[in-house]
Order: sequence, then structure tokens, then C-alpha cells
Amino acid sequence: MTVSDIQNLKLSNGKVIQAHTYLFINNEFVPGRGPLIETINPATEEAICSVQSASEEDVDAAVRAATQCYESVWRKTSPADRGRLINKLADLMERDIEELAALDALDNGKSFVIARDGDITDSIACFRYFAGWADKIHGKTIDTTFDKWCYTRHEPLGVVGAIIPWNYPTMMAAWKFAPALAAGNCVVMKTSEITPLSAYKFAALVKEAGFPPGVVNIITGYGHTVGKYLSQHLGIAKMAFTGSTLTGQKIMESSAQSNLKKLQLELGGKSAQIVCADADIPNAAEKACFGIFNNHGQNCNAGTRIFVHESIHDEFLAAFVRHVESIKLGDPFDPETFQGPQINKAQFDRILDYIAIGEKEGASLYLGGKRWQDKGYFIEPTIFIHCRNDMRIMQEEIFGPVVCISTFKTIDEAIELANDSKFGLAGGVYTSNLDTAIRVSNELKAGTVWVNCFDVFDQATPFGGYKQSGFGKELGKYALQEYTQVKVVKIQLGASNGL
Ligand code: NAD
Repeated sequence: MTVSDIQNLKLSNGKVIQAHTYLFINNEFVPGRGPLIETINPATEEAICSVQSASEEDVDAAVRAATQCYESVWRKTSPADRGRLINKLADLMERDIEELAALDALDNGKSFVIARDGDITDSIACFRYFAGWADKIHGKTIDTTFDKWCYTRHEPLGVVGAIIPWNYPTMMAAWKFAPALAAGNCVVMKTSEITPLSAYKFAALVKEAGFPPGVVNIITGYGHTVGKYLSQHLGIAKMAFTGSTLTGQKIMESSAQSNLKKLQLELGGKSAQIVCADADIPNAAEKACFGIFNNHGQNCNAGTRIFVHESIHDEFLAAFVRHVESIKLGDPFDPETFQGPQINKAQFDRILDYIAIGEKEGASLYLGGKRWQDKGYFIEPTIFIHCRNDMRIMQEEIFGPVVCISTFKTIDEAIELANDSKFGLAGGVYTSNLDTAIRVSNELKAGTVWVNCFDVFDQATPFGGYKQSGFGKELGKYALQEYTQVKVVKIQLGASNGL
């Protein structure tokens, strides 16, 4: 069956938008030789459209295009020109912000308004931030001996592979493309087969911005076939991956068994929020609620475990529940909606299974716990109390709107409970005491600690995990290290003219 590249998609607000459904290789939209993949609207459970997926030959073609472009054009493009192109791309994203947000809302089920004012706005800021770095990446001169001149160069890696998840389709792409391109790499990205649409809109803007063909290549396909083939590819110098810890382990195996490509793994989490006895309770309740329920609980850094000092448990719980009860579930295109559906049937079932497991393990289901509405993959915001650290719901990543609350007596105990996890992505502490804030921040084994706030991001600050939440940093100046390699040049002075 032949399917045309551009499809008209009807939104629930009556508008129609167009979407590319072909692979983007060498600045062209081309049909894929893999199976067609149907993408589903999680708010209605109905098919949106089918997209083409890549075969191994398509992956080879994308890597070839990127390699040729890197060798002949992109590595010779001046840093200032790279920065100018990235800024142009950010301008075009700003122009088409509504379309990008609509595609993510349709495909993922997230609120259109939040996607526009959060995800896409932040993605544009991310491109602008790294555009500014493009001509400020440089090495050092190092004094060794009187007759030598040594200097370092921070060189691009070449062709970078990227594999991203479905929870922030545009933003996860931005976090990888922006530093990779600024540092002078070409990229082959595989989007999640569950949310492929917005990346192709982004691809059209890459072409319009005037990037040379081959700098940006975007394909989609299943992880165990296309993702695996890409992560084993000998033409890929580094794999930048965001997704689950299990898949991260597979990517590591693929690297080990192929060419030892460098890795950056941004993986799962089970972040703790510690609410101390001296916390400002209204603030803690509001921020902790956002910390877990933002993006329907589908956040790697979600603050899924809340440890509250026993003396304020009831007061905190009452305030927290008031916020949770005010969460508006509904159609992603309703401007009032905060929580849309979970991403798909598999995740929906998995979350409901975890809720059943929590009850069986002896946690008290305090609020929610059920499907919301009989159409769409909606789940009520769910609160468990009286949770213990040995419960599966306290140790495993649920990736849905489920929070587990537990109490502590001393700060030492809170730190111990919070660190009792295989994950180490993020954590938070609510306190009015500076000493406590700094002590807990220093003790938490996590890559980000928020104090009296949660889930606050900025493109200038690094983000990445400890322990099984992975390694490597996205965002901030630190991200540039992930996309460059350091060469040292040592020159013997006087050797060529006999001085
Ligand atoms: P996932 O691991 O199932 O899939 C992520 C991507 O990997 C997809 O594109 C998928 O097709 C691909 N993939 C699957 N198997 C593969 C294989 N064998 N080889 C290569 N690629 C393969 O994760 P998901 O369900 O899409 O996303 C949710 C997960 O992502 C959660 O665990 C969440 O915590 C994590 N996440 C982490 C961060 C972070 O920055 N640390 C951010 C967002 C999401």
C-alpha cells in the first residue's frame, strides 16, 4: 500500500494540521522500508495515522548521509555559522510553536497549553542556549617545557546516534540535537515509535533553516530492531540515549559488542521528596504535588516517594490532597486540562497493576486508584500512604500518576530512606533551615537536588543521574563535554629550523 508523506490530522478542537510521516534522511522525506507503524491518540484510543519505519538499509543510508556530510561539510563549517543556523532553527520553531505543541499533544496526550508554554518553549530556549556556545568551544594552551608548545582541541565526535523516549518528544530531541550540533557533530536520531510526529515537523524546519543535507537525520522504528541496529552501528561514534534502565543496559551491550561507541545514558528514576518538620507546608504541598503529577507522572525525575516528618504528616497530607483534588483531567486540547491520558494501553495496564500490587503489599490507598472515564487511557491521581521501603511500589518505576507517602523521625532516617533505591536521578527537600537544606542536598545520592521546589529546569543547568539512573549530563556547559573529544597537540619548537 502506498501512503503519502503528508497526512491531514484532525484535532479535537476542530483544527486540522499537516504531518510528515516519512523518514528524514539527507534533508529529504523518504519512504521507509520497515513496517508501517500506527500511532494512537491516547485520549481517544483511536488511530491518528501510520508512519513509515526504517529498515536496516534505511539506518545505513542515514548513517552514510551523516558521515559524508560530517567529513565534507559540517566539520569544516565555522562555529559561528553553526550557531547562526541553530538560532535560525529556533526562530522557525518559535514561528511554528503551535503546530509543534499540537503534534505532541495529539501524539502523546499531554496538555497543548503545557506543551506550548513548557516543552516547546523550553526546547527553543535550549537551541538558543547552545547556539551561543557554538563559537565558544575551545581548548587550552598548556606550558610543559621551554622548547615545546602544547595545546588541546575540543573536537566533535563525528556521527552521533540518538534514541529518545515518548514522554517529551520535542524536548528530548532538543536536549540531544542542540549540544550535538553546536559542538559540530552530525546526528542520526531514532524517535520513539509511540510518538514520532513532532520530530518530522522539526525536520522540515531543519531543512528550511538551511542546514546542509546530512547534518540532521531522523528515523523511527521499533527499539528491538531499528534501535538495536543503530546502537550496534560501526559508523556511530556515540550513542546518546534516554529511556528505561533496562533498555540502557541493552544499549551498553550493543556498544560493547560493536565498536565501543561512547555512551550517554539518561535512564529511569524513583526520586524522593523529603518534607521536614520545619517546612512551609502550603509550599511543600503545592510543589510536591507538581513534582509527582506533572506530565501525568510520566517523568524520569518524578518525586514518587514522599517522606514526611511524622509530626506534620496529617497536616501535610490534608494540604497535599487539596492540590491533588484540584488537578483537572481531560482532553489535551482543553486549555484547563493539567492531566491527560497515560501514553498507551500497555502503560495504562502496568500502572493499574502497580496500584493493585500496592494494595496487596499493605499500603493504604488514600485517593484515586481507578481508571478515569471509560474512553482514553486516563488514570486518577493516586495517593498511597503508610508505605514501606521494601514494597515494590516504593522501589520500582511506575511512570504514572501514583505517589507513595511514608514518614520519618530524624533527618538521618529520611536520608537513609531516600537513598535506599537503585535509582539516583533527583531528589528534593522542603525545610526552612539552611543547614538542613545543605546537609540533605549533600547527602542525597542523586544528580539533581531541589530545595523548596521540584522539577524546575533550565537549559543552563546540567541534568543527569547517579547510580542506575545513568551517566552523562544533558543541558548546561557540561553537555558539551558529552559531544566533544579532547585532543592534545605537542609541538617541538625549533626542530624544523635548527634553532
Ligand atoms: P524505553 O527504554 O522503552 O524506550 C526508549 C527508546 O529506546 C525508544 O525509542 C525505544 O524504541 C528504544 N529502544 C527500546 N529497546 C531498544 C533496544 N533494545 N535497543 C535500542 N533502542 C531500544 O523507554 P520509554 O518507555 O520510551 O520511556 C520511559 C523511560 O524513559 C522511563 O524509564 C523514564 O524514566 C526514562 N526517561 C529518562 C529520562 C532522563 O533524562 N533520565 C527522561 C525521560 C525518560
